[in-house]
Amino acid sequence: MSTRSNAFRKEILNGETLIKEGEVGESAYLIESGHFEILIGKGKTSSRINTAGPGTIIGEMALIDDLPRTATVRAITDCVVIEVNRAEFSRRLHDVDAVLEMIMKVILKRYRETLSLLKPAGYKNPPARKVAVVEKEDIAALDAFDEIMKITDIKNALKNDEFILYFQPIVCAKSEKIAGFEALMRWQHPEKGLLFPDSFIMLAETSELISEMTLFALDYVCKAMQTFKQKMNKKYIVPEDDFFVSVNFSVKDLSDETLFDKINETLKKYDVKPGQIHFEVVESLLMEEPEKAKETLTKCQELGLHISIDDFGTGYSSLSYLHSFPFNLLKIDKSFVSKMLHDESSLVLVKAIITLAKSLNMEIIAEGVEYVEELMMLKQHEVDFIQGYCYAKPVPFETACEYLSSGLPLS
Ligand code: C2E
Ligand code: CA
Ligand code: CA
Repeated sequence: MSTRSNAFRKEILNGETLIKEGEVGESAYLIESGHFEILIGKGKTSSRINTAGPGTIIGEMALIDDLPRTATVRAITDCVVIEVNRAEFSRRLHDVDAVLEMIMKVILKRYRETLSLLKPAGYKNPPARKVAVVEKEDIAALDAFDEIMKITDIKNALKNDEFILYFQPIVCAKSEKIAGFEALMRWQHPEKGLLFPDSFIMLAETSELISEMTLFALDYVCKAMQTFKQKMNKKYIVPEDDFFVSVNFSVKDLSDETLFDKINETLKKYDVKPGQIHFEVVESLLMEEPEKAKETLTKCQELGLHISIDDFGTGYSSLSYLHSFPFNLLKIDKSFVSKMLHDESSLVLVKAIITLAKSLNMEIIAEGVEYVEELMMLKQHEVDFIQGYCYAKPVPFETACEYLSSGLPLS
């Protein structure tokens, strides 16, 4: 075969063999120019069954399994082909969508089965290998099927109003008054009871459903805000204009072109000031599409919304990008808070994060604060807000209203 090739494009000279019957292949080829003949049988008994020209894909079965090639493909003119190998094909399919991957594999599998019914006399599929391939595909199909079922459940749950938001107080470190809440989603499952986000958020994030859920959360929060304002008792709450509720954003939201208008609509619908809504964006997700993220977040900030960088310290991203995103707040992840009293390096990190945030004029929320000792330490280092079980766990709307009118139970 010619050596004049790049990663995907290969030049095959007249008379050269691209695919050899009986050999195991890993690639399919799209013919860009030239013609091939397709032969079955070996040596003198081989016969041409077809020819293939530009635009035709050949050898595609190699993309799903490693059965021997069933025909020989030989160039009858100088040709150029584009190679697609199995690993690349699987990676691309997998990146797109698990369901699409399953459907594609099933179609290819059925196609092979149909082809094998039409196979020329004398050709046999090696049975042992075929079984292995079928099993592997069936397992993949089962996983994907399970995923379809779960996503359908989530879709129905949204329709049936089974999702609600719990509210966890965020407390001003200096005044110990409630500064706001983080809204955390729960699924009131008719059979399984109250479900936490770890059993559905990640799955929703693999589909378009997550954007619907974010907007649902925003709507729920803005509606709740109207009642919160009525319940607020100055004694326990920061001034009304400083009070906020945080909504968790998903990375998918950041690439939703229509999101900005929908946010605007929701704020107007409930007459909520944009500054009273904080969007929390997880650090590790930002770098998936940094430019898009920056653009959407900047637009949100221009509207007056506040942006928090969530789970800070877990994303392994460079600190240098921090100032290029429009963040108002930084949330120190609970994994550092829970270790800082016993682990010197976690404490050093917490202090460094606080210094960094302050130098970038960002306010700091410490999350997952469970113990008084942690609270004291964080106050000493001038963290602005505290969120954690030391004050309160996430609670339903009605309890959140009680906190606003009567204060937190332990303070
Ligand atoms: P997160 O945004 O980091 O939220 C904080 C999580 O820590 C919550 O878990 C909260 O209940 C828990 N937590 C708060 N204080 C403490 C503490 O003192 N100790 C311990 N051990 N845990 C504490 P939750 O409610 O299970 O939520 C888990 C994650 O699910 C959230 O992590 C967030 O990433 C995601 N999530 C929740 N609601 C939504 C939502 O509406 N949309 C999206 N996209 N994600 C959400
Ligand atoms: Ca969060
Ligand atoms: Ca967090």
